[in-house]
Amino acid sequence: MPFALHGIPVSRGVAIGRAHLLAPAALDVSHYLVDEDRLEDEVLRLRNARTAVRAELAALKRDLPRDAPEEMGAFLDVHAMILDDEMLSREAERLIRERRYNAEWALTTRLEDLMRQFDEIEDEYLRERKADIEQVVERILKVLAGAPVLTPAPVPAVAADGQPTPGVIVVAHDISPADMLQFRHTVFHGFVTDLGGRTSHTAIVARSLDIPAAVGVQNASELIRQDDWIIIDGDAGLVIVDPTPIILEEYRHRQSERALENKRLQRLRHTPAVTLDGIEIDLLANIEMAEDASAALAAGAVGVGLFRSEFLFMNRRGELPGEDEQFEAYRRAVEAMRGLPVTIRTIDIGADKPLLDFRDGRDGRAEEYETALNPALGLRAIRWSLSEPAMFLTQLRALLRASAFGPVRLLFPMLAHAREIDQTLELVARAKHELDQRGVAYDPNLKVGAMIEIPAAVLLLPLFLRRMDFLSIGTNDLIQYTLAIDRADNAVAHLYDPLHPAVLQLIARTIREANHAGVPVAVCGEMAGDPAMTRLLLGMGLREFSMHPAQLLRVKQEILHADCTRLEGLVEQVLCAYEPEEAAAALARLSQP
Ligand code: PEP
Ligand code: MG
Repeated sequence: MPFALHGIPVSRGVAIGRAHLLAPAALDVSHYLVDEDRLEDEVLRLRNARTAVRAELAALKRDLPRDAPEEMGAFLDVHAMILDDEMLSREAERLIRERRYNAEWALTTRLEDLMRQFDEIEDEYLRERKADIEQVVERILKVLAGAPVLTPAPVPAVAADGQPTPGVIVVAHDISPADMLQFRHTVFHGFVTDLGGRTSHTAIVARSLDIPAAVGVQNASELIRQDDWIIIDGDAGLVIVDPTPIILEEYRHRQSERALENKRLQRLRHTPAVTLDGIEIDLLANIEMAEDASAALAAGAVGVGLFRSEFLFMNRRGELPGEDEQFEAYRRAVEAMRGLPVTIRTIDIGADKPLLDFRDGRDGRAEEYETALNPALGLRAIRWSLSEPAMFLTQLRALLRASAFGPVRLLFPMLAHAREIDQTLELVARAKHELDQRGVAYDPNLKVGAMIEIPAAVLLLPLFLRRMDFLSIGTNDLIQYTLAIDRADNAVAHLYDPLHPAVLQLIARTIREANHAGVPVAVCGEMAGDPAMTRLLLGMGLREFSMHPAQLLRVKQEILHADCTRLEGLVEQVLCAYEPEEAAAALARLSQP
């Protein structure tokens, strides 16, 4: 029986495929499809890992101290039995052969199935054997991690028989931004999560991957079963489970229409972003990794407006990248952009981007901020950097060094206090001084800018305009902090409103005052990449937009059909409209030709 689940649309497009339920433990392993001609090698890799664990368990038993409790031996016997039990290995091997899953993925998929079956068992003793199975699987995974890993094979869109390859759609309770990032070169075609909001960082990364996704689909991971056929309608935030052939046909049609639209948009790649009344607009890219720079260029971006450097610090099991490693990453991005400006934001860690994942182990500090009652209001972004000056100086030196290889701009997140501006600029000066002493080159005229993402910063604009070379409005946080809505919490997602008059007035004021002072201002939050917002922002006087490369051509299309002079006259009506109906009517006038 088909049924639909409603969530929050975060990444456009249609994905059709089989559900793959992902438990948090499974996120830790790599997921890739093995080439047809390597499937038996992969099965052998799994068998060899089991043999190694068998030897490990035998050695443990042999070396048990004489006074070890008797249960220890019995416990190892149980593990050896589980290891040899076909219930684990036969199904995992089938997943490798039939689905082309790599050994780790096959094993954790099988583990999840078994865990679900065990949950239904009445007998408490047997239910408790769950932990034993988990431990055995962990042992095998450890051995596999040490074994040579096959290179991930790219997934062909069309299989050898000419049929589209069925997609695999991840369904999970939640996925952290760091885990999402690991799915970059992924075999997955879509994401559905129980939790999350429109601008949660998980959603932002999904959007950057240009993969259809819906978040905040409550109970999806309980209602959807492994291998169910599902459709994600990424535009509507709709998940259709077990669709009828007619529904499937309709969505296949939509998929191909979208592919055609994307192809048409490609023609705009080299078209300058100029409005009907001849105003040039700068369209820049938001990136998470240096490697994304190529996508930015391919989309025709004229620079990087936001490099979220914190992603470099994630998935590292607590070990932070040193100055040289960071420098190399920043330099790679700068060189890849071939002389175009690269705006690198200093680490913005905290809130829904914890530095350490709960599986990574923690230091006391990490624990402190991850368990804070209100992490979005806690030690986040520049506050964290200023509380860790040695770490911050390391990043600043690395960034400065990269500026010797092309135009770099430094961007600081979440500044709100004059004192924070002072401390930040002092540390930049100190980092320069340290490089001078080492005789290392950097751009002495490097520009520094502030993100405007706290209402207090808007109210302090004259100070920011005096001290900073440029501003970038982070609408994701500006909305969160103006409306007191946690951007990652689906329970309040309906209140997260970019068109709230208070939000619009803060954005308009920032753009107006910056333009008046002659200080460059951009928007780099998700609003900049939403074509429905383009005319409104143009009417407010915005001339620089930064967004994920996948969104750039759609926004450009809007710009090519917009007339700034006309929009400037209309935007006041939107800003003065306090009633939703009045605002909707004023907005509708913006989109009329
Ligand atoms: C923002 O807050 O709008 C922004 C661009 O930064 P982030 O989404 O990384 O918080
Ligand atoms: Mg932000």
